[in-house]
Amino acid sequence: MKPLYRQVQPSVTMGLDQQARALAAAGKDIVNLTAGQVDLPMPDPGKRAVVAALEADRTGYIPATGSADVKAAVRRRMGWNEGEVLISAGAKPLLNAAVACLCGPGDEVILPAPCYTSYPEMVRLAGATPVMVPGDPTHDFIVTGEAVEEHITDRTKALLLNHPVNPTGAVYDAEALRKIVDVCAAHDLYLIADEVYSSFVYEGQFVSLYRFPEIRDRLILVNAASKTYAMAGLRLGYAVALAPVAKAMGAYLSHALGCPCSLSERAALAVLTMDDGYEAATKDVFRHRRDRLCQALADIGGLKIKKNAGAFYLWLDVSKMDDDISFCRKLLDQEGVALTPGSAFCCPGYVRLAYTKDVFALLDAAARMKRFVKQNYSSSSGVNS
Ligand code: PMP
Ligand code: GLU
Repeated sequence: MKPLYRQVQPSVTMGLDQQARALAAAGKDIVNLTAGQVDLPMPDPGKRAVVAALEADRTGYIPATGSADVKAAVRRRMGWNEGEVLISAGAKPLLNAAVACLCGPGDEVILPAPCYTSYPEMVRLAGATPVMVPGDPTHDFIVTGEAVEEHITDRTKALLLNHPVNPTGAVYDAEALRKIVDVCAAHDLYLIADEVYSSFVYEGQFVSLYRFPEIRDRLILVNAASKTYAMAGLRLGYAVALAPVAKAMGAYLSHALGCPCSLSERAALAVLTMDDGYEAATKDVFRHRRDRLCQALADIGGLKIKKNAGAFYLWLDVSKMDDDISFCRKLLDQEGVALTPGSAFCCPGYVRLAYTKDVFALLDAAARMKRFVKQNYSSSSGVNS
């Protein structure tokens, strides 16, 4: 195996965000719609908890997988008593811990594609091999149980499923999840579920994978305060898994991270015990943004605009105009709108727009995008302006 320094690629989403910020800092007029992070203030009780913890000098180490009161709050929040709870510095370390503890060299991990930019690297970091299952573009790239089954080999250890989906904004319904759960159970696969966008479902109810008892002994459920409570920089995530897996993940985290941040953990306790008013209000803000943005982009030539059902991403097919990387590069150069190419999510031909700015900025971005498409692509294949 090659040493890791010759294999690991940096996070594309984080890199593009930094690039767009650097251009803005240098004085360029940029609308940065790259990184998927909530741009609203975190809830006041969380802020107060951080300040109080700091004033009380709660700055020492805490238990490697979080303190008992925070774990209890997570358990109540997830409505699942059977699992062991782990608290860590965001969803990422928990996902890495799950993959590293369950898989090793020679093992395969199934990833529905397109997928979150970090997943293939997480699998490679564990020495295992990512196996992509392409979603059906005519059904929002939702991956079916049958498609997962077709990619199972005797080396398959786990399926890593994110829903609502980054980057497509798709949401799996209960029936689609049921089929996936049945396939995982039938083939003794672990199901690592990444539900960090669980509070961003705009129509209908979010269905968590903890609702399927038949997979609980092989389920690792990961969520975070990052999106739900606008706390991405405070790094606070949580996971539930049955004892043997949770124990291994806890041991991994004790070496890899030491412990979660003592101040962020207090903020998490405060926000996780709030009523759901903040979440509902945040969802309304994002629903309104989505609707206004889709309306503004509706008559953009050549781009089919479909409202996303979840998360806060529009997923746009640019394949009739350009390759996704050139499209994003030119759009940034000419109009200062920064988007993420689908290649970053193992799906060339598409681009991701994160509507993590206010409506004013989004309408500005839409106007620039329209001008850009008209100027660059209006006479090319099938694109009308
Ligand atoms: N999973 C998905 C699907 C994401 O989009 C992100 C980006 N925030 C993460 C995990 C990482 O979350 P965190 O910042 O809590 O580590
Ligand atoms: N998850 C966000 C995104 O997809 C933030 C960047 C990252 O964690 O990769 O843009």
